[in-house]
Amino acid sequence: MEKVAVIGAGTMGNGIAHVFAQKGFKVTLMDINEDALAKALATIGKNLDRMLAKERITEEDKKNTLANITVSTDIEGNLAGNELVVEAATENIDLKLKIFKHMDEFSDPDTILATNTSSISITKIAAVTNRPEKVIGMHFMNPVPVMKLVEVIRGYSTSDEVTNKIMSLSKELGKVPVEVNDYPGFVANRVLMPMINEAICTLYESVAGVEEIDTVMKLGMAHPMGPLQLADFIGLDVCLAIMNVLHDGFGNPKYAPCPLLVNMVTAGKLGRKSGEGFYVYTKGSKETVVSKSFV
Ligand code: NAD
Repeated sequence: MEKVAVIGAGTMGNGIAHVFAQKGFKVTLMDINEDALAKALATIGKNLDRMLAKERITEEDKKNTLANITVSTDIEGNLAGNELVVEAATENIDLKLKIFKHMDEFSDPDTILATNTSSISITKIAAVTNRPEKVIGMHFMNPVPVMKLVEVIRGYSTSDEVTNKIMSLSKELGKVPVEVNDYPGFVANRVLMPMINEAICTLYESVAGVEEIDTVMKLGMAHPMGPLQLADFIGLDVCLAIMNVLHDGFGNPKYAPCPLLVNMVTAGKLGRKSGEGFYVYTKGSKETVVSKSFV
């Protein structure tokens, strides 16, 4: 495999493009938003500089990685000629179904179509294409260049051949793939998101403040980051979308999103990417923003 396309250049898309490009793949990174593409290239540059400073890569590696990435807003026009297309657009089912119809229509017949969705059914996405056996979940973790795991999700019709290809490709990227089946939230978010939601409810019910909840989980459970800071990092809109998928998919009230999470997303407080969530982010620093008086 030599050529891949990535659709969606946000938090995840730029990281996915980065890891493929660093391993020598030619990557076309696409988004409907020009600014997102410019920001993605700037982020990739910054992340490469950080790796360079830590002597994990050379100046030559940085140059080659950047040279392997082309950006474009013309999605339909850049789908042909890729062996793999990874979709990493906003977590919204209608949007993903629309994008996959286009991916199916404009990609070569043998191209594998992967989605980085955190929770949406691979089987449902595959069903809008004419190649359900070639549709698979390739769930990278954030930040992609750093995190080792790729959750490889088999839809109902995904073939063994495609699964094996994506498992070995993930290894080629230096990742550790884990194969799982297609049920709401897969494994990662079925376990993680209810914990984050419970942390938000704990704040909502004024059991403790932001720092206290995060400190308990960091120091008490040896988590590298507290659940509220992690929610900010993932994006509160993404967290809400995943809770809704779990709630709808299992029909169990235990997955109902916390009203505070719903309110914060409605108010545009999406976490680090919007500059404010449970913490406020200015010039690389963070301070607590949500106090008990907000809830
Ligand atoms: P994001 O909001 O940072 O970026 C989404 C990007 O998609 C934006 O740049 C937007 O302009 C673009 N987009 C929207 N509609 C598009 C279209 N029709 N065509 C092309 N691009 C389009 O979101 P994100 O956090 O990068 O999440 C992307 C995907 O990755 C989601 O499915 C999410 O569930 C999944 N994911 C996110 C995380 C995380 O920590 N944020 C982790 C794992 C997986």
